[in-house]
Amino acid sequence: MKSQFDITVLRLNHRPSRDKRVSTHIALTTRAIGGKKVYYSGHYDTSLEQSVERVKGTWGGSFEIEFLEKPLKLIKNWKGVSIHLTMYGSKLSEGVQETKQRLLDDPTLPVLIIVGGAKVPPEIFEYSTINLSVGNQPHSEIAALAVVLDRLIDSENWEFDFPEPRLTIIPDSRGKNVLENTEKSEKSKESE
Ligand code: SAM
Repeated sequence: MKSQFDITVLRLNHRPSRDKRVSTHIALTTRAIGGKKVYYSGHYDTSLEQSVERVKGTWGGSFEIEFLEKPLKLIKNWKGVSIHLTMYGSKLSEGVQETKQRLLDDPTLPVLIIVGGAKVPPEIFEYSTINLSVGNQPHSEIAALAVVLDRLIDSENWEFDFPEPRLTIIPDSRGKNVLENTEKSEKSKESE
């Protein structure tokens, strides 16, 4: 089953030297919890994009990552709801309820979740549909993103589809149980 909503994430002001792991984890969290694409701004980073592609090659699906020169343009032109995560924003429960109501009225409405890096400019606050906090204390953009994705996507829909994986995990409370798609493994060996 796919996520019931159309969710994209924008990571602002990526700095390869400081943010590589954090930005990679933002992309992997988005992919794992039902998002379809991550945009990032700041500095173009092939190694960030390669890390995401490697995970996709192993675990399947059609997730995308794309560098953006002008993130504000994306936010201004977004034809749906844009949610900027910030510790200064409105209360989580109110913002999620309001957004979910809009999505229940129109489940095709695209959602853009914006996570900051260093120094988020005031225009991001201005042009986002809503500025939303996950508690009014400073913490992690990955944690804030995961909480909001979980609140937006109903827990019974936490079964996402990742077509054509090389590896698939069979949930097991006692240890690692992994299925290998030998056809895909052979193909990736041939292309090495
Ligand atoms: N000021 C730090 C710096 O210069 O590197 C970065 C701030 S913080 C770690 C980065 C992002 O995490 C914020 O822009 C916001 O998107 C998210 N964040 C942190 N605390 C949050 C909270 N309480 N609620 C929602 N988002 C939060």
